[in-house]
Amino acid sequence: MAPKSQQSASKAPPHGYHFGGPIGTFGITVILPVLVYFFAFSCNDVTGCPAPSLLDPRNLSLEQFKQEVGWPEEGILGLGSVNATLAVLGYYLLNGLLYRFLPAIEAEGVILASGGRLKYRFNSLSSNLVIISICLAGTLAQGAEWPVWVYIADNYIPILTANMLIAFGLATFVYVRSFSVKPGNKENRELAEGGASGNIIYDWFIGRELNPRVVVPIIGEIDIKQWMEVRPGLLGWSVLNFAFVAKQYRTFGFVSNSIVFISAIQLLYVVDCWYNEPAILTTIDITTDGFGFMLSFGDLVWVPFIYSTQTRYLSTYPVHLNAVEFSSIAVVISLAFYIFRASNSQKNMFRTNPNDPRVAHLKYLETKAGTRLITSGWWGIARHINYLGDWLQAWPYSLPTGVAGYQILSAGTGLVDAGVEGAFKTLDGREVVQGAARGFAIPITYFYVLYFAILLIHRDRRDDEKCSRKYGDDWEKYKKIVRWRILPGVY
Ligand code: NDP
Repeated sequence: MAPKSQQSASKAPPHGYHFGGPIGTFGITVILPVLVYFFAFSCNDVTGCPAPSLLDPRNLSLEQFKQEVGWPEEGILGLGSVNATLAVLGYYLLNGLLYRFLPAIEAEGVILASGGRLKYRFNSLSSNLVIISICLAGTLAQGAEWPVWVYIADNYIPILTANMLIAFGLATFVYVRSFSVKPGNKENRELAEGGASGNIIYDWFIGRELNPRVVVPIIGEIDIKQWMEVRPGLLGWSVLNFAFVAKQYRTFGFVSNSIVFISAIQLLYVVDCWYNEPAILTTIDITTDGFGFMLSFGDLVWVPFIYSTQTRYLSTYPVHLNAVEFSSIAVVISLAFYIFRASNSQKNMFRTNPNDPRVAHLKYLETKAGTRLITSGWWGIARHINYLGDWLQAWPYSLPTGVAGYQILSAGTGLVDAGVEGAFKTLDGREVVQGAARGFAIPITYFYVLYFAILLIHRDRRDDEKCSRKYGDDWEKYKKIVRWRILPGVY
């Protein structure tokens, strides 16, 4: 029989297709980039969020819509620029150099199907903190006018396009290269069980090779999946947030507490991920999924550009939270982050050192597969209580945008001088009010809450299938002890 890597006939992976199979993955590949551009243009700093003609769909004309959203005069080619692409590549290169030259800890990944283990190098915390320190120094020296902040705000669309192109290119590169994986190779290269169906679109999307690695001149070997997961996109998310804080200051001459709050709690989330970087070795992304378009687009485009939607919104329409609003949202984020961090750490600790006094008391189920499933503590409450903590964090990301929606009016309307509530004057004299747009941007600024719920529910189901295959009867026994999936008493 031909080795897996040489098989060409299309067949569903052993445990079936996900995401609607080849047609579904093709649809997602087309829809998601369009959605990212739609958000970027329709919520803008030219006319409003959403663009005014979206409030009146019956009279919507494409020409008018293009004018309202600042669509480039060159058309679709104007979405990108050589300059912004080089700047983005420079940013990736800087992170690559820091990855190579800063001290790192090394760890081994989980045992692979081939029996081998891969070595990983971790220093995302120090690398990314160096870049954040450079941003801080630039801001201290030149304030909101620091050229990097101005450049990001002025080139948002071309920067997005550059990352989009890198995501498509990378997915294609790893797909083509996966055909050089030979059985029994010394480098422990293997195909992902779910991404080698033989269908080009599906495998390109899911990721055919489990752990693609490349050797880059000067930088050396990079594990593409680990690297993309925690570096350019995750840091890019926070860098975009900072750029939007600076933009708010340049536009209005002040910084609102809501934009600072969101930037701070999202920075906490990403720093936590870098601090706990070795823990990614036991996540589904690393152990099970191949690296394809799903992860390259998710890591490089979706996370930085969709997750920063709220600060982008607030950069043009500031919201000042009062003490009650601020403290209520702070309570939610503290609780959510606590559940998220405590549950993930408990499992990680139990799996790496079950004798640690902090986890030694936990009850567990001994499985025939050789690993133990915790049945008390956090993991006794729900089978993915960590997802609950993660999802709850989505609310404080969106709530500070309030009943979202704004319109940008030309100078001289006098609404601010007349004391209209929630009206702001920009330093160049325009006025920003909620007006008829109030509430209509909720689908944009609260999109993350809905999307993340869908992602986590789908992820829980994929993990359930995986564990059911791995543990068989033991998984059924475990599910009888821990009945709830994510939210105890509800789901
Ligand atoms: P988990 O960290 O929940 O890992 C699931 C694995 O844990 C299972 O496959 C199983 O692996 C093991 N496991 C399951 N139940 C138990 C138990 N009772 N005791 C011990 N081990 C158990 O999943 P993810 O990798 O999906 O998520 C990790 C974190 O990343 C989560 O907090 C998630 O919310 C977050 N995340 C965030 C995203 C974002 O965009 N912000 C996207 C995706 C995830 P085994 O085979 O080893 O038994």
